[in-house]
Amino acid sequence: MTSRIHHKSIPSRRALVLGFGAALLAAGAALAEDPAGGPSDPEAHRQPKPKRRFLKPKAKASPPPPEAVVHVEPVAGMDPELAMARLMQGNARYAAGFAAHPDMDMIRRADVAKGQQPFASIVACADSRVAPELIFDQGLGDLFVTRVAGNVVDDAVLASLEYSVIHLGSTLIMVVGHERCGAVKATIDALDGHPSEEDKGTLIGVLANMIAPAVKAVPPGMPDRLDAAVSLNAAYAAADIFSRSPPLRARVLAGKLKVVAARYDLDDGKVTPAIGSS
Ligand SMILES: [Zn+2]
Repeated sequence: MTSRIHHKSIPSRRALVLGFGAALLAAGAALAEDPAGGPSDPEAHRQPKPKRRFLKPKAKASPPPPEAVVHVEPVAGMDPELAMARLMQGNARYAAGFAAHPDMDMIRRADVAKGQQPFASIVACADSRVAPELIFDQGLGDLFVTRVAGNVVDDAVLASLEYSVIHLGSTLIMVVGHERCGAVKATIDALDGHPSEEDKGTLIGVLANMIAPAVKAVPPGMPDRLDAAVSLNAAYAAADIFSRSPPLRARVLAGKLKVVAARYDLDDGKVTPAIGSS
């Protein structure tokens, strides 16, 4: 049903990348004015019921500080903007050297063993320096993570994301590209006619083929071609998620899901959402 409706017009990939953030913001803003949250949404009844765990207000006499507001327990169906705030707050702690390492104890382990309700889904590179639970300072059961070199979105990754949103209640998908990504660099080298001799006989070219459109889209004369390709590659992946999954696209347009691209800086530890994504 949903897919029939949304297969009517699937925008081109390039158009999606260029207008992606602005369109999502506009859709989100429009729907934010609807306090009912879209009563006619056919998917609304499928959202798992929010379940709060471990949230123990310490004091009722005074309002909690701002950081406490975003550091609530993740619940299925969390407002996408709140999920984004929680994620970025965690990265801010990590980047500043004040990681809280939450939700890593035995109590948490026992709790999530009963079931998971990750508040966000992350697509990250397999690079050993880009571990999502660390760079976002989150714990067990907080993030649904798919990692593959070059943070590309193939069918298996997209299916995983669909599962995390539809069945587990995640309301935020972030594609995290990162500074000096080896997969993107290898793609640039291959396109420049200097492929690695060591890659012969491997499947590494499969990744390069998926990253190549972003590399080719880097405008000539960019001062840092690799870094521009990293950002574009993440944006293309986010656009792919939106364009190739009718159920996820329906949720984005209904303001129930946020899909963003971002770049992780290896040097300072900061995650920066793409322009128009935050
Ligand atoms: Zn990488």
